Amino acid sequence: MLVLDQPCHFSADQLLARLRRGGQRVAKATVYNTLSLFSCRGLIREIAVDPTRLMYDSTTTPHHHFYNAETGELTDIDPAELQVSRLPALPSATEAESVEILIRIRPSKGA
Ligand SMILES: [Zn+2]
Repeated sequence: MLVLDQPCHFSADQLLARLRRGGQRVAKATVYNTLSLFSCRGLIREIAVDPTRLMYDSTTTPHHHFYNAETGELTDIDPAELQVSRLPALPSATEAESVEILIRIRPSKGA
């Protein structure tokens, strides 16, 4: 049911719309449940772009994003373009597993 032929970001609703445009009769709950399952299995990643909106990423390794709240578009940032040079002291008995930065963007005023 899922066609992830290239790295992509999408929401459950976008996927549902795409499937329905392709003529598939699929229930919204099925799409949500399948995405949740795929995410649990590590086949896709969930990215909470804001508290009410979850996006999915076919690239499962940690990486950084731009998120355009106006268009809902999530874009990968070239890892060479963003380097985290200093982390705060971690809570005791923990180690950093990954660092992922989400930069929220919007059209510049006057654009
Ligand atoms: Zn991504």
